[in-house]
Parts: sequence; C-alpha cells; structure tokens
Amino acid sequence: AGAAAPAARGSFEVRDLLPDGTVPPGLWIDGAWQRPARRRLIRCPADGTDVGWVAEGTRVEAESAVAAARRAFDHGDWPHRAEQERGRVLARVADLLERDAERYARVEALDTGKRLVEARYDIADVVSAFRYYAGIAGTDAGRVVDTGRPTAISRIVYLPVGVCALVTPWNYPLLQASWKVAPALLAGNTLVLKPSELTPSTTVALMETLAEAGVPAGVANLVTGSGTEVGALLTADPRVDMVSFTGGVATGSAVMAAAAPTVKRVALELGGKNPLVVFPDADRELAVDLALTAVFLHSGQVCSAGARLLVHEDLHDDLVDEVVRRAGRIRLGGPFDPDAETGTLISQAHRDKVHGYVRQALAEGAQLRTGGAPPDDPRLADGFYYPPTVLDRCSSRMACVREESFGPVLTVETFRDEAEAVALANDTDYGLAGAVVTADAGRAQRVAQALRHGTVWINDYHPYVPQAEWGGFGRSGNGRELGPTGLAEYREIKHIWQNTAPEPAGWFAG
Ligand code: NAD
Repeated sequence: AGAAAPAARGSFEVRDLLPDGTVPPGLWIDGAWQRPARRRLIRCPADGTDVGWVAEGTRVEAESAVAAARRAFDHGDWPHRAEQERGRVLARVADLLERDAERYARVEALDTGKRLVEARYDIADVVSAFRYYAGIAGTDAGRVVDTGRPTAISRIVYLPVGVCALVTPWNYPLLQASWKVAPALLAGNTLVLKPSELTPSTTVALMETLAEAGVPAGVANLVTGSGTEVGALLTADPRVDMVSFTGGVATGSAVMAAAAPTVKRVALELGGKNPLVVFPDADRELAVDLALTAVFLHSGQVCSAGARLLVHEDLHDDLVDEVVRRAGRIRLGGPFDPDAETGTLISQAHRDKVHGYVRQALAEGAQLRTGGAPPDDPRLADGFYYPPTVLDRCSSRMACVREESFGPVLTVETFRDEAEAVALANDTDYGLAGAVVTADAGRAQRVAQALRHGTVWINDYHPYVPQAEWGGFGRSGNGRELGPTGLAEYREIKHIWQNTAPEPAGWFAG
C-alpha cells in the first residue's frame, strides 16, 4: 500500500471493465466508487507486470460499507422482494458475466498468474453458479407443518439472515466470491465483500456487473484491503449478522473467534489435505493421469488438490516412476504462454512456504524424486514458479503430509489392503475431498462411503457442479456452499403458528 503512485502500466484490463478509471476502484459503498485514502498496486505474480491500482480500505471505510449494507437491509426493499424477482436479477448477472467473460478471464489470469485457459473455465463456472441460484429461485418457499390439531395452522418460512460479510481467498477469486454472493443475494441478504488483497480485480469488476444487472445501491458493497484491517473489522462488527469465509484454517479459526462475542452465524470453507487412493486393479494410465491432474493443476493452489497419493504397495514402483517421469516434463509458464501447462505460485512468501515444506520433508526422511527447488530457467525469473515435486517414502506423521503446502508437491505413501487405505486416507485433521481409483465397482462404493471427506470422486478428480454441495469435514470447515444447502446457509428459518379457534387456556385461572 502507498499514497503516491505513478500512472499504472498495463492496467487497462481492469480499467476496461470499469466505466471510469480515474478513481482507484475497490471501495464500492452504497452504489458508488469512493475515493480511497490509500491504494495498493496489484502485480501479476507470473512476471511482475502491473495489473492496476486498487483501493486499500481502512477500518473507517469498512465501517461505512457495513452501515450501507445495514441501511439497505433494514430500510430497503431487497429483503422483501419475491425470491423469483431476485432470481431474475441473478440471471441477468449471469448473462452479463457471460458477455464480459473474456475480459474477466484475462483480468483473473493477470491477478492470479494462472493460465488464461484455466481462468476461462473459472469464469464459466462463475456464470454457472449465478445461473444455478437464479434457476432455483422460488422453488423452496418453506412448508406447511401438520400439527395434528384442526385449529392450528403452522408454517415454516424463510427470511434472510441480514448483513453478510463475505471474505474470499486468492486462488479462485471470482469463483469463491460467486459461491457466496449468488446465494446470499437470492435469499435477500445485503452484503459486504472483501476479496483477497492479492487478487481483488475481478471482484472489483463484479460490483459494476451487479449494479448493471439491477442490484440496488447498498445491497452489495465491496471493501478491498488487508485481512487484518478490513477483514477483522467485518468479522467483529456487531451490525454484521453472518460471516462466510473461505481461506486458511488459522484465519478461519480467528474469524470464528472474532464472530463469537456477537454470536454471528459463521460459515467456513477452509483447507484440505486430500488423498488419492489407488488400488492395484486400477487402470494404470488413468491412475497416472489422475495423480498428475489432482495435484499439479493450478500448481497445487487448490483447496481440494489431491496432494497425498496413497498407492497399493504392489503398484508403487510402476505407478510412481511414471508419475515422476511425467511430472518432470510439465511445462511452466505465464498466463498467456500457449505452451504452459501450469503457472506460477501467488507470491514469494508462498513459494518460500512451499519450499520450506519440501526441505522439512527431506529432513524427516522423504525421498525427493523430482522438482524440489525453484527453477533456474531465466524465462521464469520474474515469477514465483516452483516445479512439480514428488516426495516418495512419506508417512502420515510428516508435516508435509499432515499440513497443506498449497503448492505443486505430491507426497507418496503405500498401503497393503483396503482397511489400511481407508485408515490412512482418514488420518487427517482435514476432510475436504478425496478420490478412489479402482476397477472394482463394489470397492469403489465401499471406500467412497468410508472416506470422511466432503467430496469423493471415483475414477475422476476435480469435477464439481453447482447443484451439488461443496465443503469439508473436520478442520476443512463448517457448513456447505453450492446446492440447496449453500442457499440454506443464508436463510433464517421461522416457524409461524396460528390458532384459528383461540380460547383462553385457563392455566392461570385465578
Ligand atoms: P487466507 O486465510 O490467508 O486469506 C483468506 C482471506 O481472509 C483473505 O481475503 C484475507 O485478506 C482474509 N483475512 C486474513 N486475515 C483475516 C482476519 N484476521 N480476519 C478476517 N479476514 C482475514 O487464505 P488465502 O491464502 O487467501 O487462501 C488459501 C487458503 O484458502 C487455503 O488454505 C485453501 O485451502 C483455502 N481455500 C479453501 C476453499 C474451500 O472451498 N474449502 C477454496 C479456496 C481456498
């Protein structure tokens, strides 16, 4: 963050999404961009080029955004509109995002350093999330309860929770925001969004899209800035009714603690240490392909990355040799490099953390099979690249197996039978996702059922649909996003009881 700043180089992509580039965007409060006191230069982590200046919000500005959201909830009509009407606004959001998809994808690629082709998939998924929630608008309006009494009418109805603080991470910036914004708005809430300070640009642009689609002023507000200043204010402010957070476990725990004194509703999507279990009957080519895709996509910066390969001991040598051979050939490069197969890490600090896990694993006895040090290719010198790395002979006691490195690091463990495979896969504090690779349909179902993880893939890895819930067991979080449950998170449930033939009960007849 800094006050004085030269004209931003190469920031046209962000500006391109906004009608007026004169105010560094990021403080969208009550339907207008506010001029910030401070600003931050966003740089592409793949090569250090400037993406653009974004407001660095303060506590004061966060408070004013909360006040705007509070006013819109308490005095505006958004919470009282028919859900179908709010759904129509979300459908327009989806159409507009689709119209601007290529520009959104380019900006997302610049902010995160991910390949443009991946960013395009992400924006398509954002459109799907808005479209899914638009599509289920009005399909569940509560229910009538049979009281067993002819003189009582009893109904369950839904109300919005209130003002929601939505805090999101850097790895899938707009996608994580959409999983919160779409259901929060459909349910009739108002909100203040705080994206990661590292990758705010597409979330900034989203505010314009929401306004263009017809979201009224004050209903959706944005404050960019740091977690410790803006995020902490939002999670503690008594005028906020709910916090939905996606990010790391330590931060999630701090968010929960900050929300506790005012008993806010808290939804947490946290990390994962996700197993890929390969049985000896698995198709070898499929297993190799899944092992590589599970962990090296987006350089492992995926909460559901399959960073733990659990392989039957009979298959170990053959499978791991091939995974190592192909991992060593994965081409690294920037967002617009057509030959790149995966990209950079988000920052120097993050690369140091990933490398620290690798070094610690080697000290603990793991065997380095490929990767393990930042590349010396001069083409990659301006980014935070780290090569696909395979650590063999690991055990579930090692830090690199227990903790989320969030980098392109695959650890390998072996098992002897199905019971041991399940025990190992469940031997984690997390429980976000996992996969089983086998040709035996019975075993596939048995193991999928036994895994204590929020999503389990059989002979596949990574696909998800907005119709299906996403979230974790254990320290991977609380609650679920997506699906009908992802909407229920943003609803209060009310029971209305009407006595149609009231008479004094006479309990205290005197
Ligand atoms: P992070 O926890 O560092 O930050 C997440 C967000 O919280 C950022 O916006 C940050 O500014 C904010 N923040 C930081 N301190 C805060 C505080 N004290 N109060 C309130 N907000 C605060 O996480 P990250 O590094 O941005 O993201 C990576 C993590 O996110 C990984 O652990 C990954 O597994 C997780 N993740 C989970 C899912 C999921 O669906 N479960 C999806 C994506 C990412």
